[in-house]
Amino acid sequence: MNDQKYQKVTPELIRRLRFIVGDKGVIADEGLENYARDEAPHTHSVLPEAVVFPHSTQEIADILRLANTELIPVTPRGAGTGLSGGSVPVHGGIVLSLDKLNKMGEIDEANFCASAQAGVILSNFCAETEKHNLFYPLYPGEMSATIGGNIATNAGGMRAVKYGVTRDFVLGLEAVLPTGEIITTGGKYVKSSTGYDLTQLLTGSEGTLAVISQVTLRLITPPSIREILLIPFNSLSEAIRCVPVILKERVLPVSIEFMESDILQLVKDYSGKEFPIPGYPAYLMLMIEADNYDDFGKISEHISEICLKNGAVDTYVPGSASAKRRLLELREYFYPTMQHRGMLDLADVVVPRSKIADFVEEVKRISKRYSIPIITYGHAGDGNVHLHPLGPGVPSEEVMTELLTEIYQVGATMGGTISGEHGIGADKKKYLSLLFSAEKLALMQRVKKAFDPHNILNPGKVV
Ligand SMILES: Cc1cc2nc3c(=O)[nH]c(=O)nc-3n(C[C@H](O)[C@H](O)[C@H](O)COP(=O)(O)OP(=O)(O)OC[C@H]3O[C@@H](n4cnc5c(N)ncnc54)[C@H](O)[C@@H]3O)c2cc1C
Repeated sequence: MNDQKYQKVTPELIRRLRFIVGDKGVIADEGLENYARDEAPHTHSVLPEAVVFPHSTQEIADILRLANTELIPVTPRGAGTGLSGGSVPVHGGIVLSLDKLNKMGEIDEANFCASAQAGVILSNFCAETEKHNLFYPLYPGEMSATIGGNIATNAGGMRAVKYGVTRDFVLGLEAVLPTGEIITTGGKYVKSSTGYDLTQLLTGSEGTLAVISQVTLRLITPPSIREILLIPFNSLSEAIRCVPVILKERVLPVSIEFMESDILQLVKDYSGKEFPIPGYPAYLMLMIEADNYDDFGKISEHISEICLKNGAVDTYVPGSASAKRRLLELREYFYPTMQHRGMLDLADVVVPRSKIADFVEEVKRISKRYSIPIITYGHAGDGNVHLHPLGPGVPSEEVMTELLTEIYQVGATMGGTISGEHGIGADKKKYLSLLFSAEKLALMQRVKKAFDPHNILNPGKVV
């Protein structure tokens, strides 16, 4: 599939694209470089030959039909905040931007759901639903991403412990197949036992099976209060051991994050931001929702007791709104700090959550062997470990591949998988065969072919 030859975007094709979306809807020269990469740290940039901005589902269908006939690769793009090179047009061709499909649809209070065009920015989606006293509880890290991009990558984020990931909130989709047909899947209902679940198949398919044009997402009522509890430990393994104990006690925090002193020191060096109770090797940071402050007090006391019995050395609740904000801001600084320190790559391996400490231990051994510092932190409540190999040296691509292969193999041996939320994109494709059998990969390729017989939609990604 990957050796396929594509046609070039000719002036005649640009003319036909302009006929579909209007003169202003096509970039064919200046500005193409803004669509050559996403936020993945080491992805090679590739210039598209044209960027197209459809205004409607029908225009997407017309573009795809044309590209399919002319054998032009098409790469869907939301906000380009992806972290695995998913929206990089690795074969050139057309980038199909969802920028102009940015309108909210119905917010249905009775059925607890909202629809929106796929290019709506996550922060706008949340703000609009909150006006109706409804709430989209996921927080996949980057609020400038699009809803369509979140669905295409099955984005996760910190709140997965309580709420799950994007696919748990997708009720229905409108999507355009690479051959130009428009389909709708699911609807404003929560149960279905009616044929293959195409909503779930498209969710997480990273723009390789169809372009998502419209979405319907499930909403909930907003929580009354959300507070933070910070718990220091003398080791990461003690911290991780507490997580199942907390969950067994029928306490369900929104998030349980783990962090070690190395990342906190780097954040302090970079931003000057001081952690509230510094000096311990490892921490759990829990976010807890409750109906009122009395209930929060009871829950946090209970969790503190559990943790103190299981190796915690202290507990801390930010005493004011500003202290809480400072702590959350500090957590938001992890990624910019890694960027500033010369992140060589990033991985987001998932392991069964009881294995996090063993996994991190093993990663540290690998890091030492390669003399490449690796910072780890992440979502203790769901086993998702973020890993950042850092400079100052820049190892060869072969060495980085070897290092990451070892890390992914350790994760797989512990019963985990390669990516918990960032997706495979272009960057992690070469590692899929570590985990998937030839039969499974072949089946995925047959699924891809059924949707996209000419392999024009986001070629070079996932399978
Ligand atoms: C600072 C930072 C923090 C982040 N934190 C998190 C986090 O905590 N959790 C997490 O899950 N992610 C996180 N991300 C990654 C990123 O925000 C998500 O992957 C997001 O879902 C990408 O959305 P996007 O609109 O930017 O998509 P893009 O980057 O434009 O595209 C991502 C993929 O989706 C495809 N795609 C986009 N739109 C469509 C569509 N309408 N139809 C079909 N395919 C489409 C693209 O082809 C590509 O393969 C973070 C990113 C940054 C920069």
